Amino acid sequence: MQRKVYLKKVCRFQVLVFRWPPPLRHQFFRNVMSDMPVTKCETCNRVFHTDDYELQLLQRGHCPFCRTQPEHFKAATDDEEGSNHVNKDF
Ligand SMILES: [Zn+2]
Repeated sequence: MQRKVYLKKVCRFQVLVFRWPPPLRHQFFRNVMSDMPVTKCETCNRVFHTDDYELQLLQRGHCPFCRTQPEHFKAATDDEEGSNHVNKDF
């Protein structure tokens, strides 16, 4: 019973999971400032304000730190291939 109450409380907050390669262990962080959403890059595990990260994705097409194009963004831009909505020359 107590576990359910705890999980309900935790679920209100955003939880970030940092998956590091072995032998390192996964790390779990909770965003206690729910009014300030953050986004984590799955490649470099850097955390950015969601608005800043999305703006960088739209402008440059990749993570501002490691320059990796996220899978979900890659799939979205592949659909628009040929229309050249993303300017990658910056
Ligand atoms: Zn990155």
